[in-house]
This record gives sequence, C-alpha cells and structure tokens, in this order.
Amino acid sequence: MKATTANQISFRQAADELDLSETMRSLLLTPKREVQVQVVAERDSGEIATFIGYRVQHNDARGPLKGGLRYHPDVDLDEVRSLAALMTWKTAVVNIPYGGAKGGITLDPSTLSTRELERVTRSFVDAIHDLFGPDVDIPAPDMGTSAEVMAWIMNQYGKYRGFAPACVTGKPVEYHGIPGREEATGRGVGIVTLKLLSRLGRKIPGTTVAIQGFGNVGTHTAKFLRDAECRVVAISDASGGYHRADGIDVLEALRHAREHRGRLGGFAGGDMITNADLLSLDCDVLIPAALGGVLNAANAEAVRAPIIIEAANSPTTPEADAIFSRNNVIVLPDILANAGGVTASWFEWVQNRQHYQWGINRVRQELDRILGEAFEQVWQLSSSRQVSLRTAAYMLGVGRVAQATVLGGLA
Ligand code: GLU
Repeated sequence: MKATTANQISFRQAADELDLSETMRSLLLTPKREVQVQVVAERDSGEIATFIGYRVQHNDARGPLKGGLRYHPDVDLDEVRSLAALMTWKTAVVNIPYGGAKGGITLDPSTLSTRELERVTRSFVDAIHDLFGPDVDIPAPDMGTSAEVMAWIMNQYGKYRGFAPACVTGKPVEYHGIPGREEATGRGVGIVTLKLLSRLGRKIPGTTVAIQGFGNVGTHTAKFLRDAECRVVAISDASGGYHRADGIDVLEALRHAREHRGRLGGFAGGDMITNADLLSLDCDVLIPAALGGVLNAANAEAVRAPIIIEAANSPTTPEADAIFSRNNVIVLPDILANAGGVTASWFEWVQNRQHYQWGINRVRQELDRILGEAFEQVWQLSSSRQVSLRTAAYMLGVGRVAQATVLGGLA
C-alpha cells in the first residue's frame, strides 16, 4: 500500500467521526503545492552528481508550512506527500500555529563526504529558495539531516534574502539554534509515554521498554525514560539489537555510540538480537524510533508489548493497526508521540523572530505544558467517543484544520 493511501485511512476514520463533508475532505487531502527539483552538485572528485529533491506543502490553513527535510535513499514523492500531510495534523494536534510540509532528497548521506553534503544542500536551496521562508514554509531536520545541514540552509538562504534565521529550525545552538531543540523529539516521546502510563494506572519505575532506533530520537527517548526509572531492556540500530533483561546501561550505550560514529555495533552491554526480535520482545512498552512501516501484517501478531509509542513517523501499517486494535494493544500515534520536535522548532522560530533567547528550563517547561495539554485532549476524546488514540488524535488535528479553513472563509 502506498504511504499516502495508508495515512488517508486514519484521516477517513476521523473525518467520518467528525462528519466532514466531501468538499472539506477533498480540500484537506489535496496538497497545496508539490515540487520536484533537480539537485546538481560537484563530487570531491570533480565529477558532477545529480539528485532529485522534493518539497510538498500540504496545507497552510493554520499558519506557515512546517516540516522536516529527509535525506534517505527511499525518499520519493509519495513518501514526502504522506509525511507532509502528517505534519499538518501534527502541528494541529499540539495546537501550534503552523501548517504542514515535508521535503527530501533521494540519497544515502553515508556515501557522501561532509563537503559533498554541503554542496547538495546549498544546491537544493538554490532550487527552492523562492518557495520557503520565515512566513511561508520553514524546513527542519528529519531522518538523515542534522543541525549542520540546517546551518547551511540558513546561510544559503541568506545569500538571496539577507539575515533570516527563522527560515529554518533545528539549527546548531551556536548558530541561531536553541538549547533543547535537539533533544526535544525524544524528550517529547518520553513525556507522553509517562503520561500514558499514568493514565493507564501503571507504575512508572521498573516499566520495561524496548526501543528500535538509536539515532537522535531513540537516544534521547532512552535517556529520558532511564532518568524516569524505567528499565530500557533492548535497543537497536541498523547494525542490530542488544537485549538485557536487567536493563541496558543507557549511558554506556550512548558513550559507545559516541565513540563509534553514532553506531551501536560492537556494544558489549547486552545479548545480540535482531531488529525483528526486538519488535516481538516481552516488555511493557515498545518504541519504534526509526523507519516507517516496521510494524506490519507480517509481524504485528508477534508483538507482545501491550503499549506501542510511535516515535518514528508512520511505523505502523493500517493492517498492523487493525491487528493491534483486535489484540488490545494500545498505540500512541506518531502525530502526538513525536510532536515534541516540531513544538521545540516553534520555540526556536519564535525566539529567532524576537532576537531573544530562553534558557533550557523554559524550553523544557513549555514543551511539557504543550505536550501535556495535547495528550489530555486526545485521551479525553478517545474516552468520550470510544475511539482509538490514533482516531482521537486525527479528530483533534483534522478538526482544527477544518475549523481554520471555515473561519478563513474557504468552505
Ligand atoms: N522532522 C520532524 C517531524 O517529523 C520535525 C519537523 C519540524 O521541526 O518542523 O516532526
């Protein structure tokens, strides 16, 4: 199933609950603008390399378009389109004044040198600089991109438009970024996990957690939950997984990854398992924090964790979602679970526009408040309407975008 089709299933369930008209449905499902551009950059060898870049601007009824930029070999128009729509619902669920967009370049960043990546990024900005900006569309990091990439974007954009740090978020703290943005997605995953555990009446200390993915999101989630006295029993990355029933020493794993170019390979603090083993581990909470579609019809029945927190975007296919609902597995959906990143992006954007800097405590406090409110609203809606947390989150998000569309006078 195409990624766009999969996400539209959740949209339709929410639209039915909200009793949205056909006119409104097609207004909300149709992307505002989709662009595909040629990205040409010189290799270190002097050869010329050509890549394809995308930016899909899905909906700006609630504010400027907002969403990450992904560098991955699987990036294509369908994936970017689906992720752009996800951003529209995500910014609406947490009620921050943005629409939704997503971009990407089809490439494997591990095959490019830093200088090559910089040239590719600048070339992409050359191709789309007319289409984004502080009040129009604000990119940010996603899979395969980093604060460094965001710095190049701001710098290249400045060559056309002058100083405009709010044209992109997720920048290095030393280059108009803010403390707390980098940790925010993982921290947010941790915050809503604790809220869900409390709402379910479960004790937090000793809760066993398995995390797939040890990149920016997985590492910060692991650290936050460890600090909250949960027991992280398994972690993994592309090189494989590690399991320890008594709990992985998360700080040791972080140190190992830091010393091995971000990789867990060779970590001695647990028994080696595969990524597939990790997903079916006997634990309280399963957190997919890497690729999309990892929980699917082929493995959903094998999942033993009663709670899944979607730290990645679209980790659960609709087929797996149906199996989880039959098996009473509770799924906290991506558009709420990983919304901490874009929420902190908003803080960065606000500060850039005011030329002011908050401290880390204020960033964390505001993040906690916004995610806490969104979680409560989703939880209440899910209980009062007897729908899944995913349908409730979509109802909240889609409902807010529909309302803004009506108030703006469009429908
Ligand atoms: N890429 C992140 C996401 O999927 C962050 C987007 C942003 O900060 O704009 O939510």
